Order: sequence, then C-alpha cells, then structure tokens
Amino acid sequence: TSQHAIDLENKYGAHNYHPLPVVLSKGEGVYVWDVEGKKYFDFLSAYSAVNQGHCHPKIVGAMMQQAQTLTLTSRAFYNDMLGKFEKFASELFGFDKLLPMNTGAEAVETALKIARKWAYEVKGISENEAQIVVCENNFHGRTTTIISFSNDPVARKNFGPYTNGFIKIEYDNLNALEETLQSNANIAAFLVEPIQGEAGVYVPSEGYLAAAKELCAQHNVLFVADEVQTGIARTGRMLAVDHENVKPDILILGKAVSGGAYPVSAVLANDAIMNVIQPGNHGSTYGGNPIAAAVAMAALEVVEEEKLAENAETLGRLFRAELSEFAEQNDLVLAVRGKGLLNAILINDTEDSSTAWDICMKLRDNGLLAKPTHGNIIRFAPPLVMNEAQLLECISIIKTTIADFKS
Ligand code: PMP
Repeated sequence: TSQHAIDLENKYGAHNYHPLPVVLSKGEGVYVWDVEGKKYFDFLSAYSAVNQGHCHPKIVGAMMQQAQTLTLTSRAFYNDMLGKFEKFASELFGFDKLLPMNTGAEAVETALKIARKWAYEVKGISENEAQIVVCENNFHGRTTTIISFSNDPVARKNFGPYTNGFIKIEYDNLNALEETLQSNANIAAFLVEPIQGEAGVYVPSEGYLAAAKELCAQHNVLFVADEVQTGIARTGRMLAVDHENVKPDILILGKAVSGGAYPVSAVLANDAIMNVIQPGNHGSTYGGNPIAAAVAMAALEVVEEEKLAENAETLGRLFRAELSEFAEQNDLVLAVRGKGLLNAILINDTEDSSTAWDICMKLRDNGLLAKPTHGNIIRFAPPLVMNEAQLLECISIIKTTIADFKS
C-alpha cells in the first residue's frame, strides 16, 4: 500500500525531501498511477525531466536495446555510441564540442571549472583571482560549491566553509551586471538561469538575456546559460535563450536530455573554450556511457519529431490565458506567469502559510499532481506530449479545486 511505501522511506531513507504523499508505481505519457491504481495527470514532470512523457516507447526502446548490448566502458576506453551522441547534440545546439556528465549539478560544476580554466589560460586572469557572477535566488544544484553561492538558508546553513569566487547580483537587473563587469577585471563568467525555475518561475524582462549576453561580450566574460530546467522545449523553444536569439558561450543541459529515462547531462561550448579541458582535468565514470548516449539521442529526436517546442508554446498560451481569466475572478490566485509549459500561480497568502501545499493536496485528490516551489507559489509543468483536450481537462481540475478550496 501507499502507506507502507511511505513508512519504508521514512524509516530507512534520509529525510532530504518532503514529498507530496502519493506513491507512484506506473507512468505513461502525461499520466502516472499510484500503487492503489488511481490515475493522475503529472503536472511536475520530475522537475521538467519528463518533457517527452513517461516511458516514451522510442526512448525506452533505445535504452533496452543498448542495455542488452553494452552498458558501461568508462572513459578509459572509447565506446561506439558516445561520439555519435556528441556529434548529434553539438550539431543540434550549434556548438563545436560537448562534455557529458550525469546530473544537472555535475554539469554546472563542469561549466564553472571550464570557465575558470578559460579565465586563467585564455583571458589571462591571475591564478586564483577569477570571479563568477551569479544571481540572487538562483538554483543550480546541491554540491558544496554550488550551495556556496545560493542564498537559500535551508540549502546553505551548516554546510560551510563555502567556496570563494562568486559575486551575487540581483536577477533581471542589467545595471547591476554592467556595474559589476565594469568595476572588476577578474570576472570569468556570468552564470544565469533564463527563467528562475526553483525560485518560483521568475521570467526576466524581455530583452534581459540578449542585453546580458551583449554586456558579457563587451567585457570578454563568458555567458553561461543553465538550461537544465528551461531547456529541451519546456518554454516553447528548444532552449529558453532561443526566445531572444541568444547563443550562450557555455550551455548547460540536464533533465529532459534523456526524457526522464536515465541521468544524462551535458555542457556544450566551442573549441576556443572547451579546449582548455585536457586529459585528467575532469571526468566521471558514468559520464558519456553508451546507454546515456543512446537514450539522449532518442530523447532529443522525440522533441523534434513530435514538435514538442511548438506544442509547449501553443498550450502554454492557452494555459496562461485561461488561468489569468480565472485569477481575475478568484481571490486565492494573485497572478499567473511563465513561458511555454513552465508556469506558476501565486497564491494569495503569506510565504510561510500552508495554503499552496493544501491546494496541492486537493489537486492530488482530484487527480492532478503539482507541488509548491517556494512558499505560496505552485509550479505547473506537465509533460510536453500533452494534447489540448487533456490540458483543458487539467485546467478544469485546477479551477474547480481552487474555487472549492477552503482553508
Ligand atoms: N540547474 C537548474 C536550473 C535546476 O533547475 C536544477 C534542478 N532543479 C539543477 C541545476 C540541478 O540538477 P540535478 O538535480 O540533476 O543535479
């Protein structure tokens, strides 16, 4: 039963998450089922990893075929799949080279290392002086270096001492970026989420990313886009930076690169940057393994074949239009924001209230799974293989649940 599974995790698992109490045992497309057989719409998609839908047959097929052939060689030897994936993804995203890792946080770490090494060996910054500019309320993962430049007390407290070399500025503030770049000659890179997902789906002002990239170019600073959550069609384009025709110097991908089937992440850059990495500088036993390569190629093909970016764009507009109209009539919903199918609603209550959580519990009862991001914000990010009829059904569940909600 569900309770048994929850009890097991509570007793034997570290308490590093606070899951919504639902125990899933099956998924297909936009749906998941709990152990009692109840069916739900998945409106989180494993934090935007399952963009291609649960258990996509093409992705699972590629995984099974590769799993029966060759699973892991490590990078001590070549394998016959990695190069194919590197070529495929490099051409798709328009870069010279790709460095494969497994998780999003590892890919961010990789990008930070590349940026620092580039700063010393190409830009000419003195050893150990390189700084990386990041944004307030960022989320880039959970490693010790990454949490060093987080300003979330829960993620940071008692994990010090912290890694140096980061300057934090306000998100969506071009003046802050310009002042920082002008006043400090030791800046290697600007690391930014095109939309701040974990912080609560904060969409920056139009033109912010393009202008930030321009400022970086003027100051010979690398523009590093963390598209782990926003990438792979989630926001209505293959990459969220595509909305402003921005080409990052370093691109970080994760999550939906594999359609939720396998941990695959990647960092892409052109030779002038990527060539600073030489044998022994960086790596991972599983990074670039043959299953990962096969799965990622299939998952990226699905995005193109099924036109998931276009679908996210169209359905996202419909979702925001419907919920904005609803918000005007309902006191509980203050605002709706997002891009493509990465959206959030702001609940009219204090940040430390349990209202958003309680609404998510009612949504669960009504067959739709979503979770608060921060306090009173609920993120809505369904798989991108959703169709219009399904989305309208979901919108109806959300509206009814909130309209009927009593705290
Ligand atoms: N960067 C961003 C923008 C993310 O949203 C996340 C995960 N939510 C990560 C990095 C970290 O990815 P992972 O959990 O795979 O380490």
